[in-house]
Amino acid sequence: MPDPYPNLLSPLDLGFTTLRNRVVMGSMHTGLEDRAKDIDKLAAYFAERARGGVGLIITGGYAPNRTGWLLPFAAQLVSSKEARRHRRITSAVHAEGAKILLQILHAGRYAYHPLSVSASSIKAPINPFRPRALSDRGVRTTIDDFVRCALLARDAGYDGVEIMGSEGYLLNQFLAPRTNRRRDAWGGSPENRRRLPVEIVRRVRSAVGPEFIIDYRMSMADYVEDGQSWDEIVALATEVEAAGATFINTGVGWHEARVPTIVTSVPNAAFIDISNAVAEHVSIPVVASNRINMPESAEQILAETRVQLISMARPLLSDPDWVAKAAANASDEINTCIACNQACLDHAFVHKTVSCLLNPRAGHETTLVLGPTRRARSVAVVGAGPAGLAAALNAAERGHRVTLFDANEFIGGQFDMARRIPGKEEFNETIRYYTTMLAKHGVDVRLGTRVDADDLVGFDDVVLATGVAPRLPSIPGIDHPKVLTYAEAIYGVRTVGKRVAVIGAGGIGFDVSELLTTDESPTLNLKEWKAEWGVADPQEARGALTTPLPAPAAREVYLLQRSKGAQGRGLGKTSGWVHRASLKAKGVHQLSGVNYERIDDSGLHISFGSDHSDPQILAVDTVVVCAGQEPVRDLEDALRSRGVEPHVIGGAALAAELDAKRAIRQGTELAARL
Ligand code: FAD
Ligand code: NAP
Ligand code: SF4
Repeated sequence: MPDPYPNLLSPLDLGFTTLRNRVVMGSMHTGLEDRAKDIDKLAAYFAERARGGVGLIITGGYAPNRTGWLLPFAAQLVSSKEARRHRRITSAVHAEGAKILLQILHAGRYAYHPLSVSASSIKAPINPFRPRALSDRGVRTTIDDFVRCALLARDAGYDGVEIMGSEGYLLNQFLAPRTNRRRDAWGGSPENRRRLPVEIVRRVRSAVGPEFIIDYRMSMADYVEDGQSWDEIVALATEVEAAGATFINTGVGWHEARVPTIVTSVPNAAFIDISNAVAEHVSIPVVASNRINMPESAEQILAETRVQLISMARPLLSDPDWVAKAAANASDEINTCIACNQACLDHAFVHKTVSCLLNPRAGHETTLVLGPTRRARSVAVVGAGPAGLAAALNAAERGHRVTLFDANEFIGGQFDMARRIPGKEEFNETIRYYTTMLAKHGVDVRLGTRVDADDLVGFDDVVLATGVAPRLPSIPGIDHPKVLTYAEAIYGVRTVGKRVAVIGAGGIGFDVSELLTTDESPTLNLKEWKAEWGVADPQEARGALTTPLPAPAAREVYLLQRSKGAQGRGLGKTSGWVHRASLKAKGVHQLSGVNYERIDDSGLHISFGSDHSDPQILAVDTVVVCAGQEPVRDLEDALRSRGVEPHVIGGAALAAELDAKRAIRQGTELAARL
């Protein structure tokens, strides 16, 4: 069979060592780094990705000293005792044929503790702690600490280190005038601002010798005011190369930047041009990163640009066998990361172990085990939403005989609506994944089949994954023709007018407002996306920012909630701000503390507060109800009366705070128990 991805799967000779292919698992903090007792879980997590064929793995960030901790007592590598522990990770990864680098991360002013330091004493907008400006001596000690950390990594069996110089962490803070106001040898001129990262690379190289990988992760576009200029970025790349770096990895955007760089709505491979432009100026390899998640686009990047490696972090959480599937020419079997951040980065930010919405085994490899069953059973799964899909597929993979029923003519349940929201087009990949895998594992899928209890008698196990139905609140006039459920609005069952009130400002209210304010047939167009967020070519503007020019809204939308205060507080930690900013840019009127008085021909009548003050009529053509959901569990009692005790999962078990993450996790955990 011809090699499906000749560039992606070809080895890369680095002179003293060879990577078996071009796939790098980029650094992602899992939370398992922070506790010594979790080292074997971390080793199992990395080993599973190495077994799946990845060429090179980069660990989450380890601080070189305590001022660099991300959080109090967070991961660090400062002693031989800690290095010895890391041998469990490096030997597990090497046994599976991959190579592994330890990332050295000094958080600088992003450190969430009072010991934080930076180039200057300027507080980050996303951190309450003001950093202390490092003294000249402090800078020199910090360099020594990076060197010590690299030597310890070598002792621990790592193949090299990644020096974290992007995302607005300490080294990036020294590089940008935004955060470096020093007038000594470490600030002032661009050369002086570059001195710390370049000196670290030079000193690490001289300490570790020539046969150890040094990967420098560089901010190729800061996306903040007073970030680096293009000349400075290019000069840094050439100086880092001269100082002894083996290759350069791509970083884009600081954590405090107001340009999204990783969420679903960022177009695929959005930052390739910048990595390619930097690659023109150096002779060492450059790694591309961010929003690359499938082999076809990775191959195209390698074939058409000067970039030589592809870094992906989240796509290897969602599918540890990504490389093996690409090599087997089975990319349609890849469980594609949908960039939702819900179980990975959102967990990291609240200090929960990182996992994956699509693959709940990620980070839990030693506890959520799905081996082959010893006794194959017949299993009926009712509902092909995320909960039912996960239960059916995992049960079938374990060897059970599975029949999956859904009343709809398609799979996905509510998730089928999610994929129709502008910016969530990638959710289609999840539907493609399940369609392929259900067929591969012989699940008998019966669509267009609404089952009743009698149909389910005779199976060894019955799984009720019947999900949720939209809630219709008891507002006078709720049966008026201008009222639509969110499902009717999304599927276009009835026409939505030009002026719309959306009742309920949860995740679905936000998504529906996004849909209604976006013009028909939205596709992820890079040019329009850049205009919306004010993203400039870094070669044209310092910090790579320009004035945002969002497309005009397709409709006038009022987004309403009964509770007081800002809307969207329950949205994802790392993605909610993108949804909020997007609706603001489209001029959506957001009203909180609303009472819904009635709906009639003149529109939606509202008032505010417990005294029903300030009555208003929103003269809208359409009212879309996004007021939460109720569980669908109409089969449960009938089954029990027939002596069948069903397993109830997903929204059918509990509608409150339901999301696909919980639904898929429950389906997977149930399949592991069957
Ligand atoms: P459901 O998805 O409701 O599936 C239940 C299935 O059971 C349905 O297909 C139904 O037809 C079938 N069924 C019911 N009764 C029977 C019967 N008697 N016989 C046969 N079939 C039956 N979640 C996230 O995590 N992230 C997001 O970004 C996100 N965005 C969303 C955007 C929108 C617009 C919407 C509507 C939802 C979104 N969600 C999101 C929520 C997510 O889709 C749901 O939490 C998830 O689908 C619930 O899964 P479930 O399997 O429990 O139920
Ligand atoms: P939700 O987040 O619980 O929001 C429901 C909204 O309806 C709230 O704004 C609530 O606010 C309002 N509401 C509840 N009962 C009402 C009533 N009787 N009358 C009027 N208003 C009422 O649920 P959802 O928006 O339906 O989303 C469902 C799930 O899907 C969520 O749990 C979410 O996690 C998931 N989802 C996630 C995303 C994402 O991007 N991560 C996107 C979409 C959906 P008030 O009570 O203040 O009015
Ligand atoms: Fe990707 Fe979402 Fe899984 Fe994170 S949780 S790895 S973003 S699919």
